[in-house]
Amino acid sequence: MSSGKQERSPAQQRGEIAKLAVAEGCHLVCEFSDEAITGDSGPEKRPGFRAMLEAAERGEFQVLLLENGDRLGRFDSLAGAEHYNRLREAGIRIVTCSDGEIDLGTFEGRVVHTVRQEGRHAFLRDLSRKVVRGQIANAKAGNSNGGGVRYAMDRVLVDGSGKIVRRLADGETVRMPGHRTQQVPSRDKTKLAAVRYMFERFANADLTYRALAFELEDRGYPSPKGAGWNAATVSAMLRNPAYRGSVRWGARTSARYCTCQGDAIVSANGNGGHRQPEEAVVVDGAHAGIVAAKLFDRVQRKVSQRYRTRVGRRGVFPLSGLIYCEHCGQPMHASSQARHDRKGRDCYQYPRYMCSSYNVSGQRNKAGCGCYWIKADLVQGWLVKKLQEIFLGPGREALVDEIQKHLRGTAKTSRADAERLGKRVAVLDAEVARLVKAVRTLDAPELLTELGNARAEQGRIKAELSRAAAYNAPEDVQAEAERIADLTWELGERLSEADPAVLRELFRRMVSRIDCRWEKTPRGKGRAKSRLAGGRVYLRPSPLFVLEANHAEACPQKPKKLLTAGTRTHLIGRSINRSSAASLGSVYTDRRRRGRIGDTSAPVGRNLSEESAGIVGPTARKG
Ligand SMILES: [Zn+2]
Repeated sequence: MSSGKQERSPAQQRGEIAKLAVAEGCHLVCEFSDEAITGDSGPEKRPGFRAMLEAAERGEFQVLLLENGDRLGRFDSLAGAEHYNRLREAGIRIVTCSDGEIDLGTFEGRVVHTVRQEGRHAFLRDLSRKVVRGQIANAKAGNSNGGGVRYAMDRVLVDGSGKIVRRLADGETVRMPGHRTQQVPSRDKTKLAAVRYMFERFANADLTYRALAFELEDRGYPSPKGAGWNAATVSAMLRNPAYRGSVRWGARTSARYCTCQGDAIVSANGNGGHRQPEEAVVVDGAHAGIVAAKLFDRVQRKVSQRYRTRVGRRGVFPLSGLIYCEHCGQPMHASSQARHDRKGRDCYQYPRYMCSSYNVSGQRNKAGCGCYWIKADLVQGWLVKKLQEIFLGPGREALVDEIQKHLRGTAKTSRADAERLGKRVAVLDAEVARLVKAVRTLDAPELLTELGNARAEQGRIKAELSRAAAYNAPEDVQAEAERIADLTWELGERLSEADPAVLRELFRRMVSRIDCRWEKTPRGKGRAKSRLAGGRVYLRPSPLFVLEANHAEACPQKPKKLLTAGTRTHLIGRSINRSSAASLGSVYTDRRRRGRIGDTSAPVGRNLSEESAGIVGPTARKG
């Protein structure tokens, strides 16, 4: 059974089925229905249908009685086949009041069934066309096709001749033949004033949408949903042609089969959401406007100058969706700060991640976040280094130490020592090989080449090490050790030079969330200075961590510097390389995420131990 506006009501359908049950000699066991859900929806949207399929598979009934073949659904023949097949496999007989038994066991039966099925589906498509045709005609007559009531507008009931019968109350529905609803300017003077103020102010002053929202808030104009004014609302209202007296319909659609393109009916292609302005039906002068057409057009020109399309942002910001502000728990938005030269041209772009509470609502954000931001290249570079450290070994410094020790000959140049170093190099070698293997699953040929090169470098290290045995002077030793370590560590630089889209994919595979913690110190006059106080990185459990466990086995003498799967480790306060002493804080693996590789949704890691001593870097400033 489905919606109440079908040919027969659910009660009537029940009556028919009861009669059919008697005729078929069946005893009614259970009843399934999906009232008011369209018949072309799959089981995911129809709980009754789903329950029926499951009950059939559990063998809770033998015969399925339907009022009509439509009742099972108006799928097209391919979409429906799956469900019918499930019923057939469960050995269910399907009997309908209108068409008798649906015979899926024979060739003829299946052909007849398929033809009927397609016919029912065509009915839906046909219906969709008719509905859209009616909606276009209705909109062109200046009527409302439903949807929300605009701010500062009222709904009115209009009779066949276009005369207003009366104003409708909020949420009131009227079904009267020949009557339609329209939206006209409200009688609420405060709301009308708010709209006029908004348009005039925007046209005459140089204001951002956000600043305008604050002004409306300060002046006490009631906001559309009572939750306060914000930039998005202001921007949407300034573009809405209803305020100059036009009716617009079709600017958004969620249609499945048909939709409008101007006056024409076109296939919807499943593209919902906002559409191009020319795709909508617009009727000018359908009702009295709230602002003058001239003023409205002036505002549109100004709006279009501000409007910029954002494209390809994800490519530039590999961490978007992964990095969060710890104070408000909101994601940090990717944003770019452009510095201009004297002629006003864009000179430099500074990509950065910014607390979205501040980015969206400014200083007056509810979470009380300051201007918290961090430079994108800085945090990305840091992360690459950190990941490299985790996946390649206990750290560059440890490596330098070890190499130096070896070169200086302070450690006993015994056979055992040389063997240990040899083993260490072999382990590094194996790890890089494994990393290459893991990265291969990313299907990023570019990165693969880079890592292949890195592997070649490992071979060179071995050669360097054997050659370095000849060095004796202490100043040479330091330089040589650094140089050798750099060869390994170049991998980080290679990674950070990789295509941002590839880098993004790599980060998403390894990291589930990054939380940034901030310090806000007042600077007087309501101003504050914000700086990064530390943070946490939650690593995604992945096959790569097996590598870490192996590493711990391989180098038991340095366990505290290693990161093993599921354990928090202190990677705090230790400089990562010579150029950047900055460190975000501690690195965690997220235990609860174990085994869910490839799941890109960020978990909330808040209830993990709070003892992460934060650290610090001179990484962000300003408030
Ligand atoms: Zn925040």
